[in-house]
Amino acid sequence: MDSLLSNWNEVLKGMSKLVTAVSYDLYIETLEPIKIDNNKLILLASTISNKNQLMRLHKDKLLTEVKKYFENVDDLVILDPSEKEAFLEDIKHAEEVLEAKQIFNDKNKLNEKYTFESFVVGKSNQFVYAACRSVAENPGKKYNPLFIYGGVGLGKTHLLHAIGNYVRKTRKNLKILYVTSEQFTNDYIQALKADKKENANKAFRDKYRDIDILMVDDIQFIANKNSTQEEFFHTFNDLYQLDKQIVITSDKHPRNMETLEERLRSRFTGGLIQDIQKPDFETRLAILQKKVEIERYNVEPDVLIYLAENIDTNIRELEGSLNKVVSLSSLIGKQKATKEEAEEALKDIALSQSQNLTVDRIIDIVCKYYNVKRDDLISKKKNKEIVDPRQICMYIITELLDVPLMNIGTALGGRDHTTVIHARDKIASSIKTNKNLKTDIDDLIAMIKSDEM
Ligand code: ADP
Ligand code: MG
Repeated sequence: MDSLLSNWNEVLKGMSKLVTAVSYDLYIETLEPIKIDNNKLILLASTISNKNQLMRLHKDKLLTEVKKYFENVDDLVILDPSEKEAFLEDIKHAEEVLEAKQIFNDKNKLNEKYTFESFVVGKSNQFVYAACRSVAENPGKKYNPLFIYGGVGLGKTHLLHAIGNYVRKTRKNLKILYVTSEQFTNDYIQALKADKKENANKAFRDKYRDIDILMVDDIQFIANKNSTQEEFFHTFNDLYQLDKQIVITSDKHPRNMETLEERLRSRFTGGLIQDIQKPDFETRLAILQKKVEIERYNVEPDVLIYLAENIDTNIRELEGSLNKVVSLSSLIGKQKATKEEAEEALKDIALSQSQNLTVDRIIDIVCKYYNVKRDDLISKKKNKEIVDPRQICMYIITELLDVPLMNIGTALGGRDHTTVIHARDKIASSIKTNKNLKTDIDDLIAMIKSDEM
């Protein structure tokens, strides 16, 4: 946005030399550059008659000037105020569709770092590890479905990717599909919504039926969606009957998933159900050592012991604390991280845990900060005073909490997860250039993490 404005200022300067002062004041200076879309610079005129006059008298000059300063622009779109909303809505829709497609592809990618080699085996996960290896070596043969359950950050996603990466290397002809249950839901909804139903259904079936291994991560999120469960049931049966491998993860045992349909529960329990537990001290230490080795971190050995002793909740946090220690020590220019930084890092972590850091708290603080009502924030309103804080809210939640995008959307007035992604990415890129916004967000995060309010 900053470069948009600074280029626009150059255009203004240029135009001021080409048109009369009256024209400049009336038609040019009153224009507001909105954005660049598809190589077109979108401008907002202050009234319809200004727009018409401008088009009639100065459009060519303006375009020539614009092209001088905007490399990728080859045309102008001038809107009057009555056209603005509809136009932005269209662009937004097009962007969301595009994003949905991109996410679709990104999420299908396997993370190459998550392999069996990089997975540390200990008492807490040896059985689940063995089951996953067996599935990877003989998909569809032994444990089908394989159902893995356990708390957050204990390695479920890592193991799914490890299966995928292993099969991809050893059995190139097999088709693997890894999806989160959010993605499954989304694909299914898209298929329902599509104008050309048949095509959409076919696309859905091609994606989910024409595969050898289906891995669905965090299935708990479809357990309260009836029609999605139904579709999943059919997908499951079709694949299962063809001896295709199915691997599922969840935060709970199927019997404890209250809203899970009975017939799915019985399918899930028909295979192997394996839990993954919190790692013991030795495993935690080994995980840290492995991470140091992979990332080539330079840390004193007692740092690892200290972290492994103090963080026993989950492995994501354990890894996070190590990253924190390393970044603290490089911040102060140390070659090697010592226990001093480890203690510092843990203080921060303890603090963020002691606060009830929740979506609710974040919404509250953002509302107060920008002086907007909570009802407005979660409403359908689209004015900038509301949209900006709403998007900032979404961004901060994704930064601070590990909550599924879909749930963030729900908390903020039943919005789609693509909207959350859009907001997150937009703010993330804005703060790179917009210092004020960055300061606002830093302030907000500090407030959210502090004891006050
Ligand atoms: P979950 O899906 O259960 O919430 P993840 O698979 O995302 O957890 O794991 C969280 C982080 O911890 C990941 O970076 C993962 O690589 C790491 N991790 C988990 N278990 C292990 C392990 N046994 N060995 C090495 N890294 C692990
Ligand atoms: Mg996971």
